Amino acid sequence: MRRGWLIYSMRRYFSFFLCGLLLLLSACQRQVETLHLNGATMGTTWSVALHSLPDSVDPVELKLQLQAQLDQINRLMSTYDPDSEISRFNAHNSSDWFPLSAETADVIELSLLISRLTGGAFDISVGPLVELWGFGASERRQQLPTDEQVAEQLAKVGYQSLKIRQSPAAVRKQKPLLRIDLSAVGKGYAVDLLAEMLNRRKIGNYLVEVGGELRIAGKRNDATLWKIAIEKPLEGVREVKTIFPLTDIGLATSGNYRNFYVENGQRYSHTIDPISGQPIRHKLASVTVLDPDCARADALATALMVLGEEKGRILVEQNRIAAYFLIHQDESFIEYSSPAFESFLRQVQL
Ligand code: FAD
Repeated sequence: MRRGWLIYSMRRYFSFFLCGLLLLLSACQRQVETLHLNGATMGTTWSVALHSLPDSVDPVELKLQLQAQLDQINRLMSTYDPDSEISRFNAHNSSDWFPLSAETADVIELSLLISRLTGGAFDISVGPLVELWGFGASERRQQLPTDEQVAEQLAKVGYQSLKIRQSPAAVRKQKPLLRIDLSAVGKGYAVDLLAEMLNRRKIGNYLVEVGGELRIAGKRNDATLWKIAIEKPLEGVREVKTIFPLTDIGLATSGNYRNFYVENGQRYSHTIDPISGQPIRHKLASVTVLDPDCARADALATALMVLGEEKGRILVEQNRIAAYFLIHQDESFIEYSSPAFESFLRQVQL
Protein backbone atom coordinates (compact mmCIF):
# COMPACT_ATOMS: atom_id res chain seq x y z
CA MET A 1 0.00 0.00 0.00
CA ARG A 2 1.54 3.30 -1.08
CA ARG A 3 1.72 6.40 1.10
CA GLY A 4 -1.50 8.42 1.03
CA TRP A 5 -3.43 5.72 -0.75
CA LEU A 6 -5.80 3.19 0.63
CA ILE A 7 -6.34 0.67 -2.08
CA TYR A 8 -8.98 -1.98 -1.83
CA SER A 9 -8.91 -4.30 -4.81
CA MET A 10 -10.73 -7.37 -3.60
CA ARG A 11 -12.34 -8.77 -6.72
CA ARG A 12 -10.69 -12.14 -6.25
CA TYR A 13 -11.85 -12.43 -2.65
CA PHE A 14 -15.36 -11.44 -3.69
CA SER A 15 -15.48 -14.25 -6.18
CA PHE A 16 -14.09 -16.80 -3.74
CA PHE A 17 -16.67 -15.64 -1.20
CA LEU A 18 -19.48 -15.92 -3.73
CA CYS A 19 -18.39 -19.38 -4.85
CA GLY A 20 -18.05 -20.56 -1.26
CA LEU A 21 -21.46 -19.24 -0.43
CA LEU A 22 -23.08 -20.79 -3.47
CA LEU A 23 -21.48 -24.13 -2.73
CA LEU A 24 -22.63 -23.90 0.86
CA LEU A 25 -26.18 -23.04 -0.12
CA SER A 26 -26.22 -25.83 -2.62
CA ALA A 27 -24.59 -28.33 -0.28
CA CYS A 28 -27.12 -27.71 2.47
CA GLN A 29 -29.93 -29.24 0.52
CA ARG A 30 -28.00 -31.50 -1.82
CA GLN A 31 -29.52 -34.89 -2.46
CA VAL A 32 -27.10 -36.25 -5.02
CA GLU A 33 -23.53 -35.38 -5.81
CA THR A 34 -22.98 -32.00 -7.47
CA LEU A 35 -20.05 -31.56 -9.81
CA HIS A 36 -17.98 -28.40 -9.26
CA LEU A 37 -15.46 -27.24 -11.83
CA ASN A 38 -13.37 -24.11 -11.32
CA GLY A 39 -10.24 -22.26 -12.29
CA ALA A 40 -8.65 -18.86 -12.78
CA THR A 41 -9.26 -16.29 -15.49
CA MET A 42 -9.27 -12.52 -16.10
CA GLY A 43 -7.50 -11.74 -12.82
CA THR A 44 -10.27 -13.52 -10.94
CA THR A 45 -11.85 -16.98 -10.71
CA TRP A 46 -14.53 -18.99 -12.52
CA SER A 47 -16.73 -21.82 -11.35
CA VAL A 48 -19.38 -24.10 -12.75
CA ALA A 49 -21.77 -26.22 -10.66
CA LEU A 50 -23.57 -29.04 -12.48
CA HIS A 51 -26.37 -31.26 -11.30
CA SER A 52 -26.60 -33.62 -14.22
CA LEU A 53 -24.15 -34.76 -16.81
CA PRO A 54 -24.96 -36.78 -19.93
CA ASP A 55 -22.93 -40.02 -20.15
CA SER A 56 -21.19 -38.67 -23.22
CA VAL A 57 -19.62 -35.77 -21.27
CA ASP A 58 -16.33 -36.41 -19.46
CA PRO A 59 -15.95 -33.88 -16.60
CA VAL A 60 -12.16 -33.66 -16.92
CA GLU A 61 -12.48 -32.97 -20.64
CA LEU A 62 -15.29 -30.47 -19.99
CA LYS A 63 -13.20 -28.48 -17.52
CA LEU A 64 -10.37 -28.25 -20.06
CA GLN A 65 -12.81 -27.06 -22.74
CA LEU A 66 -14.32 -24.41 -20.44
CA GLN A 67 -10.85 -23.16 -19.48
CA ALA A 68 -9.78 -23.11 -23.14
CA GLN A 69 -12.81 -20.98 -23.99
CA LEU A 70 -11.91 -18.50 -21.22
CA ASP A 71 -8.27 -18.43 -22.33
CA GLN A 72 -9.44 -17.62 -25.84
CA ILE A 73 -11.60 -14.69 -24.59
CA ASN A 74 -8.58 -13.43 -22.64
CA ARG A 75 -6.39 -13.60 -25.73
CA LEU A 76 -8.95 -11.52 -27.59
CA MET A 77 -10.26 -9.02 -25.04
CA SER A 78 -7.79 -8.49 -22.22
CA THR A 79 -6.29 -5.03 -21.82
CA TYR A 80 -3.96 -6.73 -19.31
CA ASP A 81 -2.32 -8.67 -22.17
CA PRO A 82 -0.37 -6.36 -24.50
CA ASP A 83 -0.67 -8.93 -27.30
CA SER A 84 -4.45 -9.42 -27.10
CA GLU A 85 -6.60 -8.43 -30.04
CA ILE A 86 -8.05 -5.47 -28.14
CA SER A 87 -4.60 -4.27 -26.99
CA ARG A 88 -3.40 -4.39 -30.58
CA PHE A 89 -6.42 -2.34 -31.65
CA ASN A 90 -5.70 0.13 -28.83
CA ALA A 91 -2.11 0.50 -30.02
CA HIS A 92 -3.29 0.99 -33.63
CA ASN A 93 -3.29 4.77 -33.76
CA SER A 94 -5.17 5.01 -37.02
CA SER A 95 -8.76 5.47 -38.11
CA ASP A 96 -8.51 2.64 -40.68
CA TRP A 97 -10.65 -0.47 -40.28
CA PHE A 98 -9.02 -3.01 -37.94
CA PRO A 99 -10.00 -6.67 -38.60
CA LEU A 100 -11.49 -8.41 -35.56
CA SER A 101 -12.68 -11.81 -34.38
CA ALA A 102 -16.46 -12.33 -34.46
CA GLU A 103 -16.42 -12.60 -30.64
CA THR A 104 -14.81 -9.19 -30.03
CA ALA A 105 -17.02 -7.64 -32.70
CA ASP A 106 -20.12 -9.03 -30.93
CA VAL A 107 -19.03 -7.58 -27.58
CA ILE A 108 -18.28 -4.17 -29.10
CA GLU A 109 -21.60 -4.16 -30.95
CA LEU A 110 -23.51 -4.97 -27.75
CA SER A 111 -21.52 -2.33 -25.86
CA LEU A 112 -22.41 0.35 -28.40
CA LEU A 113 -26.09 -0.60 -28.09
CA ILE A 114 -25.90 -0.19 -24.32
CA SER A 115 -24.09 3.14 -24.76
CA ARG A 116 -26.93 4.44 -26.91
CA LEU A 117 -29.57 3.07 -24.51
CA THR A 118 -27.92 4.74 -21.50
CA GLY A 119 -27.05 8.08 -23.11
CA GLY A 120 -23.34 7.29 -22.92
CA ALA A 121 -23.25 6.29 -19.23
CA PHE A 122 -21.77 3.01 -20.44
CA ASP A 123 -18.83 3.63 -22.73
CA ILE A 124 -16.09 1.11 -23.54
CA SER A 125 -13.91 3.95 -24.83
CA VAL A 126 -13.52 5.13 -21.22
CA GLY A 127 -10.20 3.19 -21.10
CA PRO A 128 -7.87 6.27 -21.03
CA LEU A 129 -9.78 7.65 -18.04
CA VAL A 130 -9.74 4.29 -16.25
CA GLU A 131 -5.95 4.27 -16.65
CA LEU A 132 -5.64 7.93 -15.64
CA TRP A 133 -7.52 7.35 -12.40
CA GLY A 134 -5.35 4.31 -11.66
CA PHE A 135 -7.78 1.44 -12.24
CA GLY A 136 -6.48 -0.09 -15.44
CA ALA A 137 -3.78 -2.59 -16.28
CA SER A 138 -0.97 -0.07 -15.70
CA GLU A 139 0.66 0.79 -12.38
CA ARG A 140 -1.52 2.60 -9.86
CA ARG A 141 -1.04 6.36 -9.87
CA GLN A 142 0.88 8.05 -7.07
CA GLN A 143 -1.25 11.17 -7.11
CA LEU A 144 -4.62 12.34 -8.30
CA PRO A 145 -4.85 13.58 -11.90
CA THR A 146 -5.22 17.28 -12.52
CA ASP A 147 -8.24 18.79 -14.31
CA GLU A 148 -6.02 19.34 -17.36
CA GLN A 149 -5.03 15.67 -17.43
CA VAL A 150 -8.68 14.62 -17.13
CA ALA A 151 -9.64 16.96 -20.00
CA GLU A 152 -6.79 15.58 -22.12
CA GLN A 153 -7.93 11.96 -21.66
CA LEU A 154 -11.62 12.88 -21.96
CA ALA A 155 -10.90 14.18 -25.46
CA LYS A 156 -9.97 10.60 -26.48
CA VAL A 157 -13.25 9.16 -25.17
CA GLY A 158 -16.56 8.82 -27.02
CA TYR A 159 -18.37 5.68 -28.19
CA GLN A 160 -19.79 7.73 -31.07
CA SER A 161 -16.31 7.63 -32.61
CA LEU A 162 -16.33 3.84 -32.77
CA LYS A 163 -17.74 2.08 -35.82
CA ILE A 164 -18.26 -1.65 -35.92
CA ARG A 165 -19.08 -3.93 -38.85
CA GLN A 166 -19.74 -7.65 -39.18
CA SER A 167 -18.74 -9.93 -42.10
CA PRO A 168 -15.94 -9.35 -42.29
CA ALA A 169 -15.80 -8.23 -38.68
CA ALA A 170 -13.83 -5.03 -38.16
CA VAL A 171 -13.78 -1.93 -35.98
CA ARG A 172 -12.53 1.58 -36.60
CA LYS A 173 -12.06 4.66 -34.46
CA GLN A 174 -12.48 8.16 -35.73
CA LYS A 175 -10.30 9.36 -32.85
CA PRO A 176 -6.97 7.57 -33.40
CA LEU A 177 -6.05 7.76 -29.68
CA LEU A 178 -9.30 6.15 -28.52
CA ARG A 179 -8.78 3.02 -26.37
CA ILE A 180 -11.27 0.25 -25.63
CA ASP A 181 -11.71 -1.31 -22.17
CA LEU A 182 -14.07 -4.31 -22.07
CA SER A 183 -13.74 -4.89 -18.31
CA ALA A 184 -17.37 -3.99 -17.63
CA VAL A 185 -18.80 -6.48 -20.13
CA GLY A 186 -16.15 -9.18 -20.73
CA LYS A 187 -16.89 -11.35 -17.72
CA GLY A 188 -20.61 -11.40 -18.53
CA TYR A 189 -19.80 -12.34 -22.13
CA ALA A 190 -17.53 -15.14 -20.88
CA VAL A 191 -20.38 -16.45 -18.71
CA ASP A 192 -22.66 -16.53 -21.78
CA LEU A 193 -20.14 -18.48 -23.84
CA LEU A 194 -19.63 -21.04 -21.06
CA ALA A 195 -23.41 -21.40 -20.63
CA GLU A 196 -23.80 -21.95 -24.36
CA MET A 197 -21.10 -24.65 -24.26
CA LEU A 198 -23.11 -26.42 -21.56
CA ASN A 199 -26.35 -26.01 -23.52
CA ARG A 200 -24.72 -27.55 -26.61
CA ARG A 201 -23.74 -30.54 -24.48
CA LYS A 202 -27.37 -30.90 -23.32
CA ILE A 203 -26.49 -30.05 -19.74
CA GLY A 204 -29.69 -28.59 -18.30
CA ASN A 205 -29.09 -27.71 -14.64
CA TYR A 206 -26.11 -25.48 -14.03
CA LEU A 207 -24.68 -22.39 -12.42
CA VAL A 208 -21.87 -20.66 -14.32
CA GLU A 209 -19.93 -17.88 -12.61
CA VAL A 210 -16.99 -15.71 -13.72
CA GLY A 211 -15.74 -13.15 -11.20
CA GLY A 212 -19.19 -12.79 -9.64
CA GLU A 213 -21.26 -12.60 -12.86
CA LEU A 214 -23.61 -15.56 -13.26
CA ARG A 215 -25.88 -17.56 -15.46
CA ILE A 216 -28.10 -20.27 -14.11
CA ALA A 217 -30.31 -22.86 -15.78
CA GLY A 218 -32.80 -25.39 -14.47
CA LYS A 219 -32.84 -26.31 -10.82
CA ARG A 220 -30.67 -27.68 -8.06
CA ASN A 221 -30.45 -31.38 -7.26
CA ASP A 222 -33.33 -31.25 -4.83
CA ALA A 223 -35.52 -29.71 -7.57
CA THR A 224 -35.58 -26.33 -5.81
CA LEU A 225 -34.60 -23.05 -7.46
CA TRP A 226 -31.00 -21.85 -7.34
CA LYS A 227 -30.50 -19.44 -4.46
CA ILE A 228 -28.33 -16.45 -5.31
CA ALA A 229 -26.89 -14.30 -2.54
CA ILE A 230 -26.46 -10.55 -2.91
CA GLU A 231 -23.75 -9.12 -0.70
CA LYS A 232 -24.09 -6.06 1.49
CA PRO A 233 -22.04 -3.43 -0.38
CA LEU A 234 -19.62 -2.86 2.50
CA GLU A 235 -15.85 -2.42 2.39
CA GLY A 236 -13.91 -5.34 3.76
CA VAL A 237 -17.02 -7.08 5.11
CA ARG A 238 -18.63 -10.24 3.78
CA GLU A 239 -22.30 -10.27 4.69
CA VAL A 240 -25.31 -11.42 2.77
CA LYS A 241 -27.92 -8.73 2.25
CA THR A 242 -30.54 -10.92 0.61
CA ILE A 243 -31.01 -14.20 -1.25
CA PHE A 244 -33.06 -14.53 -4.43
CA PRO A 245 -34.40 -17.86 -5.67
CA LEU A 246 -33.82 -17.87 -9.44
CA THR A 247 -33.75 -20.00 -12.57
CA ASP A 248 -32.91 -19.63 -16.28
CA ILE A 249 -31.38 -16.16 -16.17
CA GLY A 250 -28.12 -14.20 -16.19
CA LEU A 251 -27.20 -11.95 -13.25
CA ALA A 252 -24.51 -9.29 -12.87
CA THR A 253 -23.67 -6.94 -10.01
CA SER A 254 -21.66 -3.71 -10.08
CA GLY A 255 -20.64 -1.76 -7.03
CA ASN A 256 -18.23 0.83 -5.74
CA TYR A 257 -17.26 -0.98 -2.52
CA ARG A 258 -14.46 -3.29 -3.68
CA ASN A 259 -12.33 -1.45 -6.18
CA PHE A 260 -11.61 2.06 -4.95
CA TYR A 261 -9.10 4.15 -3.02
CA VAL A 262 -9.35 7.02 -0.59
CA GLU A 263 -7.28 10.16 -1.02
CA ASN A 264 -7.61 13.19 1.29
CA GLY A 265 -10.76 11.68 2.75
CA GLN A 266 -12.40 11.41 -0.67
CA ARG A 267 -13.32 8.03 -2.13
CA TYR A 268 -12.43 7.33 -5.79
CA SER A 269 -14.25 4.43 -7.42
CA HIS A 270 -13.28 2.42 -10.51
CA THR A 271 -16.59 3.30 -12.18
CA ILE A 272 -16.03 6.41 -14.27
CA ASP A 273 -18.64 8.82 -15.58
CA PRO A 274 -17.63 9.12 -19.26
CA ILE A 275 -19.31 12.53 -19.53
CA SER A 276 -17.47 14.26 -16.66
CA GLY A 277 -14.36 12.07 -16.76
CA GLN A 278 -14.61 11.68 -12.96
CA PRO A 279 -15.14 8.59 -10.79
CA ILE A 280 -18.79 8.36 -9.74
CA ARG A 281 -19.90 10.00 -6.51
CA HIS A 282 -23.41 9.23 -5.32
CA LYS A 283 -25.36 7.10 -2.90
CA LEU A 284 -26.01 4.13 -5.14
CA ALA A 285 -23.84 1.40 -3.61
CA SER A 286 -24.59 -1.58 -5.85
CA VAL A 287 -26.77 -2.58 -8.76
CA THR A 288 -27.77 -6.11 -9.72
CA VAL A 289 -29.33 -6.72 -13.13
CA LEU A 290 -31.14 -9.83 -14.36
CA ASP A 291 -31.14 -10.55 -18.07
CA PRO A 292 -31.10 -13.77 -20.13
CA ASP A 293 -27.89 -12.38 -21.66
CA CYS A 294 -25.26 -12.01 -18.91
CA ALA A 295 -23.09 -9.67 -21.02
CA ARG A 296 -26.05 -7.28 -21.29
CA ALA A 297 -26.71 -7.60 -17.55
CA ASP A 298 -23.03 -6.88 -16.86
CA ALA A 299 -22.93 -3.75 -19.04
CA LEU A 300 -26.26 -2.46 -17.73
CA ALA A 301 -25.16 -2.90 -14.10
CA THR A 302 -22.13 -0.63 -14.72
CA ALA A 303 -24.24 1.88 -16.68
CA LEU A 304 -26.76 2.10 -13.83
CA MET A 305 -23.94 2.63 -11.33
CA VAL A 306 -22.86 5.60 -13.45
CA LEU A 307 -26.40 6.98 -13.74
CA GLY A 308 -27.10 6.81 -10.01
CA GLU A 309 -30.38 6.18 -8.26
CA GLU A 310 -32.71 8.72 -9.83
CA LYS A 311 -31.69 8.51 -13.49
CA GLY A 312 -31.19 4.76 -13.05
CA ARG A 313 -34.77 4.27 -11.86
CA ILE A 314 -36.12 6.16 -14.86
CA LEU A 315 -34.03 4.07 -17.26
CA VAL A 316 -35.03 0.70 -15.76
CA GLU A 317 -38.71 1.60 -15.55
CA GLN A 318 -38.90 2.96 -19.10
CA ASN A 319 -37.02 0.00 -20.56
CA ARG A 320 -38.39 -2.84 -18.39
CA ILE A 321 -34.92 -3.67 -17.08
CA ALA A 322 -34.92 -6.10 -14.13
CA ALA A 323 -32.70 -4.29 -11.62
CA TYR A 324 -32.15 -4.28 -7.87
CA PHE A 325 -30.45 -1.27 -6.24
CA LEU A 326 -28.86 -0.95 -2.80
CA ILE A 327 -28.64 2.72 -1.83
CA HIS A 328 -26.62 4.12 1.06
CA GLN A 329 -28.75 5.70 3.76
CA ASP A 330 -27.10 6.73 7.03
CA GLU A 331 -25.35 3.60 8.32
CA SER A 332 -27.58 1.26 6.35
CA PHE A 333 -29.05 0.65 2.88
CA ILE A 334 -32.41 1.06 1.29
CA GLU A 335 -33.50 -1.32 -1.45
CA TYR A 336 -35.21 -0.63 -4.75
CA SER A 337 -36.46 -3.36 -7.09
CA SER A 338 -37.66 -2.36 -10.54
CA PRO A 339 -41.12 -3.57 -11.66
CA ALA A 340 -39.45 -5.97 -14.14
CA PHE A 341 -37.30 -7.39 -11.33
CA GLU A 342 -40.34 -7.94 -9.09
CA SER A 343 -42.24 -9.50 -11.94
CA PHE A 344 -39.36 -11.91 -12.75
CA LEU A 345 -39.17 -13.01 -9.10
CA ARG A 346 -42.95 -13.61 -9.01
CA GLN A 347 -42.78 -15.61 -12.24
CA VAL A 348 -40.02 -17.97 -11.05
CA GLN A 349 -41.89 -18.70 -7.83
CA LEU A 350 -44.99 -19.94 -9.71
P1 FAD B 1 -17.70 -3.72 -13.39
O1 FAD B 1 -18.63 -2.72 -12.81
O2 FAD B 1 -18.27 -4.88 -14.14
O3 FAD B 1 -16.74 -2.93 -14.42
C1 FAD B 1 -16.00 -1.80 -13.99
C2 FAD B 1 -14.84 -1.65 -14.90
O4 FAD B 1 -15.31 -1.24 -16.19
C3 FAD B 1 -13.84 -0.61 -14.44
O5 FAD B 1 -12.82 -1.19 -13.65
C4 FAD B 1 -13.34 -0.06 -15.75
O6 FAD B 1 -12.32 -0.88 -16.26
C5 FAD B 1 -14.54 -0.14 -16.67
N1 FAD B 1 -15.40 1.04 -16.61
C6 FAD B 1 -15.42 2.04 -15.69
N2 FAD B 1 -16.37 2.94 -15.99
C7 FAD B 1 -16.98 2.51 -17.11
C8 FAD B 1 -18.03 3.02 -17.91
N3 FAD B 1 -18.66 4.16 -17.61
N4 FAD B 1 -18.41 2.32 -19.02
C9 FAD B 1 -17.76 1.16 -19.36
N5 FAD B 1 -16.74 0.62 -18.63
C10 FAD B 1 -16.37 1.29 -17.52
N6 FAD B 1 -7.99 -7.82 -13.97
C11 FAD B 1 -6.79 -8.08 -13.42
O7 FAD B 1 -6.53 -7.62 -12.32
N7 FAD B 1 -5.88 -8.89 -14.06
C12 FAD B 1 -6.13 -9.44 -15.28
O8 FAD B 1 -5.31 -10.16 -15.84
C13 FAD B 1 -7.40 -9.16 -15.90
N8 FAD B 1 -7.72 -9.67 -17.11
C14 FAD B 1 -8.93 -9.37 -17.67
C15 FAD B 1 -9.25 -9.93 -18.91
C16 FAD B 1 -10.48 -9.65 -19.49
C17 FAD B 1 -10.81 -10.23 -20.85
C18 FAD B 1 -11.43 -8.83 -18.80
C19 FAD B 1 -12.80 -8.56 -19.41
C20 FAD B 1 -11.13 -8.30 -17.57
C21 FAD B 1 -9.88 -8.55 -16.99
N9 FAD B 1 -9.55 -8.02 -15.75
C22 FAD B 1 -8.32 -8.32 -15.18
C23 FAD B 1 -10.48 -7.10 -15.06
C24 FAD B 1 -11.34 -7.72 -13.99
O9 FAD B 1 -11.46 -9.10 -14.02
C25 FAD B 1 -12.77 -7.11 -13.98
O10 FAD B 1 -13.41 -7.34 -15.18
C26 FAD B 1 -12.78 -5.63 -13.76
O11 FAD B 1 -12.07 -5.30 -12.63
C27 FAD B 1 -14.21 -5.07 -13.59
O12 FAD B 1 -15.08 -5.94 -13.01
P2 FAD B 1 -16.03 -5.56 -11.83
O13 FAD B 1 -17.08 -6.62 -11.77
O14 FAD B 1 -15.23 -5.29 -10.63
O15 FAD B 1 -16.69 -4.17 -12.26
